[in-house]
Amino acid sequence: MLRHFSRSLRFQFLIALSGVLLLALGSLGALSKWFIFPALHKEEQGIIDQELKRIERSLVLAQQELLVQARDWANWDDTYEFVQGNYPRYADVNFSPEMLKEMRYQLIAFFAADGSPYFLSGLVPHTGQFASCAQPSGECDWMAPYIDTMQRSIKDNPDQQSFLVPGISSPAMVAITPILRTDGTGPNVGWLAKMRLMDEQWIAQWETLTGLPIAIERLPAPQREPSIRIEGDTIHAQHLLPTSVPDMSIAIGTQLNRTHYLASLDTIRYVLIWTACLMLFVIGFVLWLMERIILTPLKALSVFARQASKQDTNLDAQSLCRRGDEIGMLARSFDQQLTRQRELNAELLNLSTHDALTGLPNRRLFDQQLKDAIQEAVALSQPLAVMMLDVDHFKLFNDHYGHQMGDECLRKVSRALQRVANDHGFLIARTGGEEFSALLPGTSADSARQIGLLLHRTVDQLKLPHRASPVSAYVTICVGVSSLADSTDILPCSLMSTADQALYSAKAAGRHQVMVFTPSLDPVHMHETPHE
Ligand code: GH3
Ligand code: MG
Ligand code: MG
Repeated sequence: MLRHFSRSLRFQFLIALSGVLLLALGSLGALSKWFIFPALHKEEQGIIDQELKRIERSLVLAQQELLVQARDWANWDDTYEFVQGNYPRYADVNFSPEMLKEMRYQLIAFFAADGSPYFLSGLVPHTGQFASCAQPSGECDWMAPYIDTMQRSIKDNPDQQSFLVPGISSPAMVAITPILRTDGTGPNVGWLAKMRLMDEQWIAQWETLTGLPIAIERLPAPQREPSIRIEGDTIHAQHLLPTSVPDMSIAIGTQLNRTHYLASLDTIRYVLIWTACLMLFVIGFVLWLMERIILTPLKALSVFARQASKQDTNLDAQSLCRRGDEIGMLARSFDQQLTRQRELNAELLNLSTHDALTGLPNRRLFDQQLKDAIQEAVALSQPLAVMMLDVDHFKLFNDHYGHQMGDECLRKVSRALQRVANDHGFLIARTGGEEFSALLPGTSADSARQIGLLLHRTVDQLKLPHRASPVSAYVTICVGVSSLADSTDILPCSLMSTADQALYSAKAAGRHQVMVFTPSLDPVHMHETPHE
């Protein structure tokens, strides 16, 4: 059963289509894994980089703005005079805690031409108290590390500088620029440094500017590569910026929503699942179509062929033959072939059971029917009679008239005998050259004798001239009759041999007569028919 299924067309279709499905699903999977998902991931990375760069750009702008503000003060005749000690009221006129707070300056420092601090003013971290000193000491001692950093920076790059410092309460940005006259001429008489706090208020402003949430923290990490951490549908991206302190960095972090990425991912997943389902459906549909269009008609055709080989009449064949497709063509040609074969078989059967010259049943058919008739007669306790008929002196007829005329004579005699057989419903066969046998089921010995006489007479009435015959001027026959009484069991050969002996006896008695024998071989009657 399983072996048969594994060779069936259905199984082969199933295997081929499953292969196609697996290949398609594999390709889809590979496409997603190596092309679609990496492309989406790359796009997300690109967005993160872009946003981080946007934040950094806005920070650079803020530093440039501070530098511009520092330069605004540094390129001013009043400042120029002040650093040279020519304008003592400068500090009182220009410095106030309100101004520092409003501008969010933590510290403003003036340096003399030799780089030493000249005037320092700022807001004390944590307390926010205003303090002004000439040196970073006393209430200004918190300024000392910044002043150091600024002095170092002035030494390294006397022109102008902008950098970040880790700060005390929060990170800060510093801008340093040389002090010149308002018209930009020198000589350089010192430096002015401004330090702005990057506190929460400033960050809030920064966030408004960029439209992104920003977090700043000081980290002891020297790396510069952006770090990315994914938590659910949020990405935490961080970029470290160097400060004036070599082993301290300022980390600028932001959060990005992954909804776009996740939505794209979901869409692609849905598309993949739907494509897979669609493929499954298409393949199922193709299998169903194949089953309906090819396999079912093929099965019907094979049933048709099987039934045809058993000679069954098949109704399905009609609907198969009416089809307009290739299966219909196959069924039609098969049907034609079958009809032709049946005709040939019938022809063959007819040839094998009938005589070619006279068209009468031959010995084969006669013997077969005789056997059946004896069985039936015995089973039903019915009488049965057989006859053997032989044309008298037929050799002489042939010799006199020729073989062809002999054939014609045999045909005429046969037709006459067949007519009588048809009228009385018995079988007559040509069982030898000019010999015939008759089978009369349900016929008593007496009736058989009557029929024998009738046959005998029928040939006489044909009046076929036979000049060479010593017994008559016309063709005559002898009939040997043998009959089977009720319930008598006898072999077909002995019944026929009795008839043969009756015929022999008729011949011996002068021909042109009917002789009836019983199977015991005793002569019952002997009739001679008068010659005309
Ligand atoms: P009898 O009265 O004793 O039967 O004599 P007979 O000549 O009829 O018998 P015999 O057996 O001597 O000869 C039979 C002849 O029948 C011999 C043969 O030439 C002829 N014959 C047999 N079959 C055919 C046939 O098909 N066609 C023709 N034309 N002649 C046939
Ligand atoms: Mg003979
Ligand atoms: Mg003969």
